[in-house]
Amino acid sequence: MKPEDVVEKVKAAGVVGAGGAGFPTHVKVAAQVDTIIANGAECEPLLHCDKQLIVAHAEQVVDGLRLEMLATGAKRGFLALKREYHEAVSALQQALGKPRDGATANGVELFLIDVSTYPAGDEFVLVYEVTGRLIPETGLPLHVGCVVQNVGTLANVSAAVRDGHPVTQRYLTVTGEVNEPKTIRLPIGTSYREALARAGGVTLAEGEYRVVVGGPMMGRLAPSLDEPITKTTSGLIVLPVDNAVVTYMSRPLDRWVKRGQSTCDQCRTCTMLCPRYLLGHNFRPHEIMRAIAYDHPVDSEVITGAVMCCECRLCEAFACPLELSPMAFYKEVKRKLAAQGWKNDRHKRTDLTPHPFRDDRRVPIERLVDRLGLRKYHGLHVAFDEQEVPVRRVSIPLKQHTGVPAEAVVAAGSKVQDGDLIAAVPEGKLGAAIHASIDGRVVEITATAIVIER
Ligand code: SF4
Ligand code: SF4
Repeated sequence: MKPEDVVEKVKAAGVVGAGGAGFPTHVKVAAQVDTIIANGAECEPLLHCDKQLIVAHAEQVVDGLRLEMLATGAKRGFLALKREYHEAVSALQQALGKPRDGATANGVELFLIDVSTYPAGDEFVLVYEVTGRLIPETGLPLHVGCVVQNVGTLANVSAAVRDGHPVTQRYLTVTGEVNEPKTIRLPIGTSYREALARAGGVTLAEGEYRVVVGGPMMGRLAPSLDEPITKTTSGLIVLPVDNAVVTYMSRPLDRWVKRGQSTCDQCRTCTMLCPRYLLGHNFRPHEIMRAIAYDHPVDSEVITGAVMCCECRLCEAFACPLELSPMAFYKEVKRKLAAQGWKNDRHKRTDLTPHPFRDDRRVPIERLVDRLGLRKYHGLHVAFDEQEVPVRRVSIPLKQHTGVPAEAVVAAGSKVQDGDLIAAVPEGKLGAAIHASIDGRVVEITATAIVIER
């Protein structure tokens, strides 16, 4: 198989990064790098879909990694996951003995993360842990010869290249206040409401709970249960309205600003635990609190440093003893800078030295779980259920990826089958193709979604 065949098949299948913002995978696999890292760290508390997918489909994950090595010319491939994921580790060990035709057989090894900390799966952190290389400020793994790919993405790469199978389904963990916590596989476009029903329904009454989409650190509150599952939805977590995670995710920006301006005592704890600062970036969250209090202009160096924040939420949810949020300020500054068309030629340092105490300042998951009020859900048994379930209606978003929205290539009333192309990205633009996730008829095409009913 030729490298360009891998790129084309991945592009045609609409594969995107399953663990983050949905960056189109065909762009990553068209790069030339020396190292691919499969990201199975899954460091967000309560989520299990990545490790469970590894257990069920280790061969596909390894095959996807090898295919990406073939496409990018990488000589080294790492399967990075926590040592404590015993079942996943042994599934990968077995799969490593079984290379499939056409892919590089050698050069793949396991990288086991000994200490369970957050954010172990952050690309900057993972690349440093695995290779010892430091990605420049606001840079990419590519800048140090690496591609990092979520394990679910790699399974999708294998399905796309080997079987021509587009991305139409998503594994996600549904947990918290539900009757049957489980990781399930659902057609893309299925509503959150239906996903919760598949997990036995919610244990609390209407108005007593909120649903977090994604993990409790980097996720967001669902505005409505009618929202659809996308290629990047890793979990739905049902939590009581008075849980700490719900409280900080629902606090409006002006409340954060008022509290921050009046109460920050410049203790620096947010800076001492910030993963970007610990990797040596010229970035100190306590400084933005001071800058805001003293009305620094938005283009001052301290404030534009916002572009270095990865929004891991550690400062807000774990570090600050006064429940303040440097991250909230950084998000707002980023929004303003983007609106002004500000170009970053300032925060790009490459001469980085990690903090000497970095290892001791990584945040253990167990402490994070307690701080977030998630102990009750942390030990829940989360079943893995791959059974295909008939879904009657899906609303498939045209933008589930970084880049421009895909444009419909079907008309209302068309009959479609699971896997048919229904929306494509204009030639030359960044984005990903979208496919039907069930057999049925297109009943509506809106500015943002294509609705299909059986
Ligand atoms: S969210 Fe807070 S802790 Fe995380 S990178 Fe941004 S400033 Fe640092
Ligand atoms: S941890 Fe909180 S109080 Fe301390 S400097 Fe940071 S924002 Fe201010």
